[in-house]
Amino acid sequence: MRYVSTRGQAAESSFEEVLLTGLASDGGLFVPKNIPQFDSDELAELATLPYTELALEVMAPFVEPDLDRGTLKGLVDEAYAQFAHAEVTPVTLLDDSVAVLELFHGPTLAFKDLALQLLGRLFDHVLHKRQQKVVILGATSGDTGSAAIEGCRHSDFVDIFILHPHQRVSEVQRRQMTTVDSTNVHNIAVEGNFDDCQSIVKACFGDQGFLPEGRQLVAVNSINWARIMAQIVYYFYAGLRIGGPQTAVSFSVPTGNFGDIFAGYLARCMGLPVNKLIIATNQNDILHRMLSDNDYSKRKLQASLSPSMDIMVSSNFERLLFDLYDRNGVSVRELMAEFTNGSLHLSEDALWRARQLFLSSRADDRQTGATMSAVYQQQAYLLDPHSAIGVFAARQQLQENPSIAPVIALATAHPAKFPDAVHAAGLAIEPTLPTHMADLFARQERFTVLPNNGDEVQQFVRDHCRG
Ligand SMILES: *Cc1c(COP(=O)(O)O)cnc(C)c1O
Repeated sequence: MRYVSTRGQAAESSFEEVLLTGLASDGGLFVPKNIPQFDSDELAELATLPYTELALEVMAPFVEPDLDRGTLKGLVDEAYAQFAHAEVTPVTLLDDSVAVLELFHGPTLAFKDLALQLLGRLFDHVLHKRQQKVVILGATSGDTGSAAIEGCRHSDFVDIFILHPHQRVSEVQRRQMTTVDSTNVHNIAVEGNFDDCQSIVKACFGDQGFLPEGRQLVAVNSINWARIMAQIVYYFYAGLRIGGPQTAVSFSVPTGNFGDIFAGYLARCMGLPVNKLIIATNQNDILHRMLSDNDYSKRKLQASLSPSMDIMVSSNFERLLFDLYDRNGVSVRELMAEFTNGSLHLSEDALWRARQLFLSSRADDRQTGATMSAVYQQQAYLLDPHSAIGVFAARQQLQENPSIAPVIALATAHPAKFPDAVHAAGLAIEPTLPTHMADLFARQERFTVLPNNGDEVQQFVRDHCRG
C-alpha cells in the first residue's frame, strides 16, 4: 500500500514511513492511496473468524509489502493476547435495538489499547529491522498516555516521553502512566493545562534539532495512520456478529478527535454493510455543529464528565474532508487555510454527502449522567461516561429514525477509570478495577514536574534518551 497526504503536496510514502512520522511534510495527514474491498463472499468468510484472524485479513492490505502476513500475524497475536477477554472486543445486547461493543478489556481499560498494543509492536519490529532508534513524544489528557506507555514499555528502540497537565488528570489515569517501571518511560507533569502540553509537543515536532544525533520524533496520537488502521478491525468484528455479512448495522461512536469514527467510515468504504455512523459528542460539540449547522468553528474548551472527548478541534476530520472533496488536496488546503481563522464551512455538496453517511447527537453532563443511571437501573449495566454518550446518541437517533436499527454503541472505557463520574451520575456504587490493576493505588509513582516551558522539556528529553 502507498499513502498520500490529504493536502496533496507531500511525496507518496510507504507504510513504514507513515508509521514512523507524524504529519506529512505538507502539514496534511496520511491516508491510503486506495481502499481495499471485501465482496459478499469474502465478508461471509470473515464473519466466521476469531478476532486475531480477522485483524490479519483486514490489516494485511494496508501493511504489505513492507510487512508480510507471517510477520503481521506474529505481532497481532501478541498484541491481542494482552486482552482480558477471549473475544478481545465482545458485543453485549443492551435491549432490542442497541448493542454495546466493549473496547475496554486491554491493559489500560480504554479502547486506545486496541491500537497502541499493536503500534508498540509494529514500532519495535520495524526499528529492529532498520537498526534505528526513535523518540516518542506525546501529550495526554488521560487515556492516550497510559495506552502508549503500555504499548512501548518493552521496546529497546523507543524512548517515550508523555506530557500531562500537572494535577489535572484523574488519579486512576495518572497512576496508570506513572507506575510503569521501565527505563525507557518518562512521565512529565507540566505546570499548565492540556493545551500547553500540546503546544510544547507541537513545537518540538516542528523543530527537532534538540534531539540527540540521528533521532527523530514519532507521534502516537490518532494522526498516526497505524492507529486508525487497527481500529477498523472491531467494526468488522461487531458488524459481522450483529448483522452478519448481509444486514447493515449502524454504529454510535463517542468521539473527540474523529479518529475512532473515521475507522468506522473506512470499514464501510471497505465493504462492511453499514447504515449510519452516529457522531456522539459531549458539550465540546464542534462535529455536531458541523453536521447540523455547517458550523465547524473553534469554541472555548469546556471541562466535562467525559474528559477524553474534551477537544476544541477534531484533527482527523481532515481525513474525511479529503474524501468529501473527491480526494482533491487543493480543496483541503483551501479549507484548512480558511480554518486558520477559527472556522470553516463545507460546500452544499460536501455537506450533503456527509449527511448521507453520518448522524450526530450531543450529550451534556446531565444527559450523560442520566444515561449512566438509567442503563444501570434498567439493564443492570454500568457504562463509563464516554460510553454513555454513545448510548444516549444511539437512543436519540433511534427515536427519530427506527430504521437505523440495530445500532452498535462503542463502549470506549471501563467505568472503573471514572469513579467520580459514576458518583456524579447519582449511583452509589464503587466500580471495581479488574484484578490486574487491583493494586494500582499501592504502586510506586514516578514522574517529573516541569514548568510550562518548551526549552526545559526539550532539555529533559535530550538528557534522558538512552544511548
Ligand atoms: C480517546 C477517547 C475517545 C475519543 O476518541 P477519538 O478517536 O478522539 O474520537 C472516546 N472515549 C474514550 C474513553 C477515549 O479515551
